[in-house]
Amino acid sequence: MTEKTYKDLKKDVWDAGLCSGCGACVAVCPGEGLFFETGKGMNSPVSTGTCKEDQDGVPCGVCYAICPRASGEMRQMLGVYTEALAARAGFEVPHRQSGGAVTAILANALDEGLIDGVVTVTEDRFTLKPRSAIITSSEPLIHEAGSRYSWWVPLLASLKEAVVKRKLRRLAVVGVPCAVQAVQRMRASDNQLAKPYGRSVRLLIGLFCTETFDYRALVEGVLGEKYHVEPWQVKRLNVAGKLEVTVEGRDQVTIPLKELEATVRPGCRSCTDFAAVDADISAGAVGAPKGSTTLLVRTPIGKAFVDRAVASGRLLVEPKVDLAAVEKLAKEKSKRK
Ligand SMILES: Cc1cc2nc3c(=O)[nH]c(=O)nc-3n(C[C@H](O)[C@H](O)[C@H](O)COP(=O)(O)OP(=O)(O)OC[C@H]3O[C@@H](n4cnc5c(N)ncnc54)[C@H](O)[C@@H]3O)c2cc1C
Ligand code: SF4
Ligand code: SF4
Repeated sequence: MTEKTYKDLKKDVWDAGLCSGCGACVAVCPGEGLFFETGKGMNSPVSTGTCKEDQDGVPCGVCYAICPRASGEMRQMLGVYTEALAARAGFEVPHRQSGGAVTAILANALDEGLIDGVVTVTEDRFTLKPRSAIITSSEPLIHEAGSRYSWWVPLLASLKEAVVKRKLRRLAVVGVPCAVQAVQRMRASDNQLAKPYGRSVRLLIGLFCTETFDYRALVEGVLGEKYHVEPWQVKRLNVAGKLEVTVEGRDQVTIPLKELEATVRPGCRSCTDFAAVDADISAGAVGAPKGSTTLLVRTPIGKAFVDRAVASGRLLVEPKVDLAAVEKLAKEKSKRK
């Protein structure tokens, strides 16, 4: 049977401006046939011309099978969850974005041997360039806490290295909702080439997401040229109705989101999933008291990881979430088409 190839992905997703840049297709292509061209906006991948199905007629179709945008399925609102918690780390997490709860769950899981690696996005703190990474011990994980709002690399790029080269079979993946959807498609797919990836992801943590920004346009354009802030001066970025930039030796710079509209990645404009409804646990800032993270625990697996972190004292939780605030942002995002 002929499967869909990257040519269908190009027509249905890339050329339609729907690609989120999640990098899942790049990660799973068995022929290394897809990549993002460095420095060219990287709104969607390109083909190397080595697609096995297209060139040699070898049945594949895995890129199309796992792409969250090819399915046309829309995720909306808060999804199914069993618990809503305000949570924070029971230990110091210096760079945490909210309450450090995501770091606490993952650090505990690594230290207890529940997982053998975390696929996530870290950053070069000098240039603020994000990079897809595999972390296998709690100390570097704690060092890499915090949110990366701008993209330079496809965030799931490291999944191939984790599964194929390093043969890690008990992974946690942390990602924004589009990446979570892609990984969940790997877990559920009947495509034989997707199965090793799906089977290797034990825990899937989703981060609430309104939008992400293009690295060059945000860091070099708006921050550098307009606000004269160099990346190495930035101590913290936070989005809370506006972009708050904590700058070394200067007053905080506050930028209205309206000013950032041109820097929003094109694939985000048609994205309706705020709360990462396909994750085992979703995490965000909105809804929890300052200094805590909102956790929506969705699956028995997610609950097991939260319970283990609570039992070890590394995660502190209370059932104190303003769900109406979360619903408000989810509803606004669900209006996108
Ligand atoms: C692009 C983006 C947009 C967001 N938008 C919102 C929003 O609109 N409203 C809201 O309430 N919350 C939003 N969040 C979530 C919020 O910023 C925090 O990530 C969340 O509250 C968890 O905080 P924490 O202190 O528990 O996480 P931490 O303990 O600081 O850990 C964060 C973990 O996430 C990983 N990570 C950081 N950035 C990325 C990324 N881009 N992709 C994959 N993994 C990453 C880090 O490596 C780290 O492991 C957003 C996050 C991101 C990355
Ligand atoms: S949305 Fe993700 S999987 Fe789909 S084409 Fe874009 S990078 Fe590939
Ligand atoms: S808004 Fe967030 S989840 Fe949606 S495509 Fe953009 S980065 Fe992905």
